[in-house]
Order: sequence, then structure tokens, then C-alpha cells
Amino acid sequence: MTELPGIDVETVELRRIELPLVTPFRTSAGTWSERDVLLVRVLGDGVEGWGECVAPGDPSYSPEYTAGAHAVARDHLLPRLFAAGVRHAADVAGALEGVRGHAMAKAAIEAAVLDAELRAAGRGLAEHLGAARDRVPVGVAVGMLPLDELVATVARHLDEGYARVKVKVGPGWDVEPCRRLRAELGDGFGLQVDANGAYGLGDLDTFRALDDLGLLLIEQPFPEHRLLDHAELATAIDTPVCLDESIVDQDVLDDVLRLGAADVVAIKPGRVGGHLAGRRMHDRCVAAGVPLWHGGMLETGIGRAANLALAALPGFTLPGDISAADRYWRQDIVTEPAVLEADGTIRVPSGPGTGVEVDLAVLESVTTSVELHRR
Ligand code: MG
Repeated sequence: MTELPGIDVETVELRRIELPLVTPFRTSAGTWSERDVLLVRVLGDGVEGWGECVAPGDPSYSPEYTAGAHAVARDHLLPRLFAAGVRHAADVAGALEGVRGHAMAKAAIEAAVLDAELRAAGRGLAEHLGAARDRVPVGVAVGMLPLDELVATVARHLDEGYARVKVKVGPGWDVEPCRRLRAELGDGFGLQVDANGAYGLGDLDTFRALDDLGLLLIEQPFPEHRLLDHAELATAIDTPVCLDESIVDQDVLDDVLRLGAADVVAIKPGRVGGHLAGRRMHDRCVAAGVPLWHGGMLETGIGRAANLALAALPGFTLPGDISAADRYWRQDIVTEPAVLEADGTIRVPSGPGTGVEVDLAVLESVTTSVELHRR
């Protein structure tokens, strides 16, 4: 990554919006019907940049949640950002390291500074991160649904052109829905499952039964701290084990790679503290020969554009959870929402920064609060 000239961060806006999902999303970690999102807008040197915090509205999926991220950003992170006189996105993590945890809130601030800094320099995020392509293959995640509805929903997404489908599973809802999908829709499509940490090593029989279904991978079978159990599972079954929630930072990733606890790694930039950390972790996985895919957190067009830039790096060899905007929203908050191409890919936005423009009229219509913080 080349060095950027930097910007004078004068004002930071913290904005909350509420967007209803097209359909409620049910997993073993909870159900979401709408997204309460914290957005960060950085203004300075005549440019602005946007970042999206991926924290969900309640702390059932991750310890971080929207109202908590908002509070920590306002009371602890922005004062540190201003005190340090940060001019570069690459310096944000260091300026905020006095606050423990809160990776999602920190990542949103870094994303906004990075977007502003790149726009000031007239450079695109994908190019800056080292993207290898201008479109990325994408998948779609389907929540827990009644069986007939599940089959119909997956069939529809395959018709739409998605390169692979992921279904949420949990104890009592695993082998049967996957068997039914294979029986009705065949073996010709990529199918993976996500347990969101709902199982334990005592469930080996379930995983062995899933082995017969030709799954691309099983994602986060055990709770996030169970690295040794994941290593044991990875040698006990044929289906590749993928870690998602476990991958919280570089140190944990290093342990995961040393232990052989994951055959595949999912990166969510929000969870690991930002796209710059995500890029470093990508490089580490590539060096270790471990394939990656890019996760999703029901982002709006702001977060999705940044994710597309990272997902365009060469180590992301499996389709990511970066679906088209209409999978989630009736109306996105950017002027050119992501659309699925006929070949199962989404175009990586080009142009300065993330390459997307916020639709301010739509944004205002879904805004629930706005605060301005000045240096
Ligand atoms: Mg997951």
C-alpha cells in the first residue's frame, strides 16, 4: 500500500439509522427484522468519508452492539482520535489502542478516515488494498426457515445466479434440511452451513452425517474460544472446518493456523478491527496456504462497498457473503446499490474511496439520531 497524504480530521458525525430487512433473518444466535446501524462520517480538508459499524442491534451475536458501539465511540474513541491528531487511517488503530476491545466501533472510525483520505488523494480503496480483480464471486446466506420455504428460497437464489448458498444450522436443524436441499436441488451447487458456535465435540455424529452431503465447509461449529476442539474436529471429519467468530485478531489467527483449527478462514473486517487489519490477516492466510472468504454482517451499501474492495484480494478464493443490496433492503442508502451480475459476481466499485456515494435524501429518511463532534 502506498502512503497517502492524509487529511485534517475536523469533524466526526455519529449517525444512527434504522433500516427494515426485506425478510427477517433467523440464526441460532437470534433473529433480526431490521438493522439499527451506527454510521461514522469524517469531514476535513473539504472531503468526507463514511464508515459503517457492523455491530448488531443486540449483543446476542457478538459482545458489541449498536448502542454500545455508539457510546464507546462518543465517550472514548473520538476523544482519543482528536487528541492524537490522527491524519492517516493507518494511525487510527494505534491512537485507539488504549481502549480494549470494541473492534467493530474502531473499525467504523478507521473506515471513515480511510474513505476520506483516499477521496482526498483521488485513489480507490480496492486498488489501495491490492485488489486483483474488478468483480468478485458472491454467495447468499439463508436464515432458518420452514423446510418447504427453505428449499424454495435456496432455489430462487440459485436462479438469481448466486455462486453458492449458505444455510444456518443448529442442533435439531442440520442434517435434515441439508439432505432435503441436496435431494430436491441436486449436488451441482455450492452449499455450506453456518452453526454460529451452537455445537460441541459431543455432536460428532451430526458432523459425520453432514460429511455425506458434499458441503463446501462447515462454519463455526463450536463456540469461538474452543480452538482446540475445532482442531480436533478438523481431523475427525472430511468437511472443511471454517472459523468465523473465532477470528477476532491477528494473535488468534496465528494460533488457529498453528493449531490447524481451521481449513478455511472467514474474514469480517468489522470484527477484526478494520479493512487494514483484514488485509494483513489475508496476507497471513495466503502465506499459510489457507483459503479465505469474506463474511457479511447485513451491511448497507456503505459497508458493502468497502467489503467488496477487500474481497477482491487474491486470497479470497471462495465466494463471500456479500450479496446484492436487494437481498437485504428495499432501498439502500447509496446511489448505486450493489447488483448481482449474471455470472454470480458483484462489481467492485471504482472511483475514489469506497467508490459509492451516499444518497442523502434516503439517508435522512431513515436517520434516528445525528451528533457532530469537533476536534
Ligand atoms: Mg458465520
